[in-house]
Amino acid sequence: KKNFKPKPEWMKRVIPGGDKYTTIKAKLRELNLNTVCEEARCPNIGECWSGGETGTATATIMILGDTCTRGCRFCAVKTSKAPPPPDPEEPRKVAEAIVAWGLDYIVLTSVDRDDLPDQGSNHFAETVSLLKARKPSMLVEALVPDFRGDSGCVERVATSGLDVFAHNIETVEELQSVVRDRRANFRQSLDVLKLAKEFAPAGTLTKTSIMLGCGETPSQVIKTMENVRSAGVDVMTFGQYMRPTKKHMAVSEYVTPEAFDKYRELGEEMGFRYVASGPMVRSSYKAGEYFIKNMIE
Ligand code: SF4
Ligand code: SF4
Repeated sequence: KKNFKPKPEWMKRVIPGGDKYTTIKAKLRELNLNTVCEEARCPNIGECWSGGETGTATATIMILGDTCTRGCRFCAVKTSKAPPPPDPEEPRKVAEAIVAWGLDYIVLTSVDRDDLPDQGSNHFAETVSLLKARKPSMLVEALVPDFRGDSGCVERVATSGLDVFAHNIETVEELQSVVRDRRANFRQSLDVLKLAKEFAPAGTLTKTSIMLGCGETPSQVIKTMENVRSAGVDVMTFGQYMRPTKKHMAVSEYVTPEAFDKYRELGEEMGFRYVASGPMVRSSYKAGEYFIKNMIE
């Protein structure tokens, strides 16, 4: 029982609801789309799908299959060296379904596909372009793998027409090899974010996220924030790590809401354009709502 930490009060879940949430949920059943929001049983689904204060409904969709070529210690996605090939029709099917679904902000994410010659980057870029062609007003965020630092892959996605290029560094520099797959590392991920900023059209935002509660110290978090800001990243989010099963890495601590608030204030002082920080924050947490509030108003 050494690793067991009871969940504090602030980690309790809220029951989703609201008119827009109910409509979006009903529509989803007809469309054959699998959302990360539902599969990960994300606690924010009510807020994201209802669109919160600005009515900007957000959801996250996973493309390129459900099987990853990597194995990070915090992640519950299944892994294989040779996952089934991607469905070439997926970009079109997903784009059509998302447009029909009636969202305002979509996060497209994927497993890592180290098995594919282009690491899935063409599939990603095609999905974004098809979405934007069908509904230019929809805001599209691509939350992508590190592509092993391949600049061609980064360029392809960064120039596909997206609004936000996101790649998660997941944790502080010191804990990269403990938390992430051995093929991932801090420098490579920072380089991907820097390259994306260079390749993407002016005005495209870059974004990254870390989980707290993996054993990091506050000074390591602050140093990581400084490094991320130096890479030109516009948006950073902080959330609590939650262990998916007992086979996964243990939670080192439940970081208090006050400590999360401090990181947000500090991030704003450092010049990030937007920071989301809280125990329940996920990288896509109410992304649309904040995008509208902060970038457009
Ligand atoms: Fe999970 Fe992503 Fe790591 Fe794959 S690369 S195991 S999907 S976190
Ligand atoms: Fe979906 Fe992300 Fe919002 Fe969770 S935080 S409900 S995964 S969009």
